[in-house]
Amino acid sequence: MAMTTIGKYVIERVVETERPYAPARDFFPDLSEDMLATCQRDLPAGQLTPDGMLQMSFHAYVIKTGRYVIMVDTCCGNGKERPLRPVFHQFKSDFIPALAAAGVRPEEVDFVMCTHLHWDHVGWNTRLVDGKWKPTFPNAKYIMSKTEFDYWDQVYQSGVKNTHTQAFEDSVDPVVRANQAVLVQDDYELEQGIWVEPCHGHSRGNFVINVASQGERGVLTGDVLHHQIQLRFPALSTVADDDADLARVTRTALINAHAGTGHLVLPAHFPAPSVGRIEAASVGGFRFDTES
Ligand SMILES: [Zn+2]
Repeated sequence: MAMTTIGKYVIERVVETERPYAPARDFFPDLSEDMLATCQRDLPAGQLTPDGMLQMSFHAYVIKTGRYVIMVDTCCGNGKERPLRPVFHQFKSDFIPALAAAGVRPEEVDFVMCTHLHWDHVGWNTRLVDGKWKPTFPNAKYIMSKTEFDYWDQVYQSGVKNTHTQAFEDSVDPVVRANQAVLVQDDYELEQGIWVEPCHGHSRGNFVINVASQGERGVLTGDVLHHQIQLRFPALSTVADDDADLARVTRTALINAHAGTGHLVLPAHFPAPSVGRIEAASVGGFRFDTES
């Protein structure tokens, strides 16, 4: 179990799965063969498979503040209907035992924060109980961007059927019905030193989560960064970005804001060890320093 501290706050990474996810050149439409070869050469081992697949982790972060237990993003979930994502269709993982290994029972989670409402960030919001999707964390308030929620609510109500609207139906709507959702504005602060910051582009109302304690800083970036390829080449947006141009702008700004500052950066899909600092790379672009 990987553990990180930011001042007095303890952050644990709870892994659902780590696997080769997609061919890099499919996921990053502007990634040329030469750029991929550069990444194969410059990125640390384990980021790409020899045949150019992206190695990706699906994990949640649990922040223990001493006062609250806060879960950030809830991965894909078990038993969900995801026919358009065959690997994750009726998926089964040991996420709850992994959470237990981090010393947390579901009823001990005080807050769930969703950086955005894509299917792979809301899955464990709910689990199947007697044939119905119920909040996995019975005592938690689920913090979601109002902008993001309103967008997906409108897409869902319009009858669109895709993986995101399926996730809205089985992993977001039941939380609202249980009166556990809290829809927040872009300047929401959960408690002193834990606040959201809008970073739209990957999704309509995407936010990142800043953590500050005792002079130390970190940022949980959700999907503003998907892979270390985007540190080597920050302009690369993904097929999963709702607005590729805006995502390019906000991702580049985020990288520039944190590079060389010593801030910890905690992305949602970087493979283990997943947590590091952004530094300028001598070969160009940036690199992810996971050494300390
Ligand atoms: Zn994601």
